[in-house]
Amino acid sequence: MLLLYKDPPKKLDYIPEMRKALAGETCPMCGGQDPVTLDHFLPRATHTEFALLSYNLVPACACNSRRGRVVADEAQGLRLLHPYYDVCLNQPLFTCDFNPADHVPTFETRLLLAEDDPHYANVGFHIQSVVLKTNIRTFLAKRWQKLREFPDDMLFGNRSHRESVARFQAYLIGLSTSKSRVEGPNAWETVFFRSIAEESVASWIFNNT
Ligand SMILES: [Zn+2]
Repeated sequence: MLLLYKDPPKKLDYIPEMRKALAGETCPMCGGQDPVTLDHFLPRATHTEFALLSYNLVPACACNSRRGRVVADEAQGLRLLHPYYDVCLNQPLFTCDFNPADHVPTFETRLLLAEDDPHYANVGFHIQSVVLKTNIRTFLAKRWQKLREFPDDMLFGNRSHRESVARFQAYLIGLSTSKSRVEGPNAWETVFFRSIAEESVASWIFNNT
């Protein structure tokens, strides 16, 4: 099977086409951009029998190689989320609490699900094993720096929502909702806008930019 995989038959021509079509989309595994590989959810080295099974081929970006062969932590009964089966991926899973006074903010991720949600533990495992293995922290830090430098470019039209902190926060929540509709609820861009719409951060932006 491994040999077949290395020299695939012509019928697999659709795979490069699928990869091209994914450019510019949000990676369903980590929320990054351009999921241009098809990841073997169950690694082919350990699950050769599933190497060509379509449900085992999940669009992914560089997070694919960064997570390595991690699929589950059997000792703790935890597993990664699967984009085809775990519909909880379609809801906002986490936000980042950062201290806006830091020039390069430090991030603490916080799950948005209730602790008694049946997906809670697996979402935490997925974020640790996939999302935080990517360069999402660098992405968010750069976004934050740009916002400090160019607030009116990053927050288009924000000056007409500055009557009060509450009004400004509502404007940021609106931006976060739009990003979520366009990019997906856990796309990095959405996570950024969701994080800055937190009251403490919104208030800092209101008072300092
Ligand atoms: Zn990814």
